[in-house]
Amino acid sequence: MTERVFNFSPGPAMLPEPVLREAQRDLIALPDYGMSILEVSHRGKALAEILATAESNLRQLLNLPDQYHVLFLQGGSRLQFSMVPMNLLAGGTADYILTGSWGQYALAEARREGRINVAYDGAAGNYNRLPEKADLKLTPGAAYAHFTSNETIQGVQFPSEPDTDNVPLVCDASSDFLSRPLDVPRYGLIYACAQKNAGPAGVTVVILRDDLVARSSDKLPGMLNYANFVKEHSLYNTPPVFGVYIVKLVTDWLLRDIGGLAKMQQLNQEKARLLYDAINRSNGFYKGHAQPAARSLMNVTFRLPSDEQQEKFLAGAKERKLVELKGHRSVGGIRASIYNAMPRAGVEALTQFMDEFRSG
Ligand code: PMP
Repeated sequence: MTERVFNFSPGPAMLPEPVLREAQRDLIALPDYGMSILEVSHRGKALAEILATAESNLRQLLNLPDQYHVLFLQGGSRLQFSMVPMNLLAGGTADYILTGSWGQYALAEARREGRINVAYDGAAGNYNRLPEKADLKLTPGAAYAHFTSNETIQGVQFPSEPDTDNVPLVCDASSDFLSRPLDVPRYGLIYACAQKNAGPAGVTVVILRDDLVARSSDKLPGMLNYANFVKEHSLYNTPPVFGVYIVKLVTDWLLRDIGGLAKMQQLNQEKARLLYDAINRSNGFYKGHAQPAARSLMNVTFRLPSDEQQEKFLAGAKERKLVELKGHRSVGGIRASIYNAMPRAGVEALTQFMDEFRSG
């Protein structure tokens, strides 16, 4: 049996082991179907059941009100950077709240589509904090207000939704989706590529409030029009079948083994606390990037006193099977991504190594 390592990658990231085992078991033939998920027709009963269960699991986990649609799309979150303004601007202005690199990328694409107001940009502080309500320069009657709930590169996370008065929130939840409960009625749209918490690369979940579907112009290319996917229940074209199947298994795991998102959040808080405590007790040896109030529970970013020490740290960690800890090139340092599937034991092994490395 090949040994598994603790994989701290920002995504694609670890999947829960029971999910991998189930997928492996069923890869030759799904129970009752005699063929694998990779071979079934997208118009057949097997996929219909998997799509329906993935959707109902998500509805249950997020406590989704009936007026929200669940869509399984392709193209990753980067495609949503374009689809959101293409479908939802409808001649209006949208507000963008920038707390890191992904918000900047979303803004650049939105600007190609229409009028955008930057309501807040934390670039001057190197994206290490979150805005207060008074920092937001909101547009009255904006089409929507876009924010990134967790900035994967900087490790900056909103502990709760920003207050944008009555403007519908649009959230890039790519790197904290399903890590905690959400106050869904505050959102017009939530999107998340799956490859951090929800499944493999290749499927992107979009949750869309029904009244916003009417904004999509029929002049849009069919594949970029939310209304088509709503009408066809994600079967406008062949959906990312294998990805949806893994999302189904991951959401089964969240419901069955974890016990829902409040419980998942508690486990994530405990794991993150272990790491931030290790940073806090290091007397400045490890320096966190995010200010304490903005610290992400998903991506813990910190630096060591020198690049040389950092290289030694990465090599030592690797010897202990703690891998993919190098920070993003734009921020540097270390980034420990500890999504839902990272076991507490992995975080404990990392904090133990951090303490030992520091005391030489
Ligand atoms: N938004 C955030 C917050 C992300 O972390 C990522 C991926 N790292 C993306 C968007 C882009 O996702 P994709 O590569 O699936 O387009």
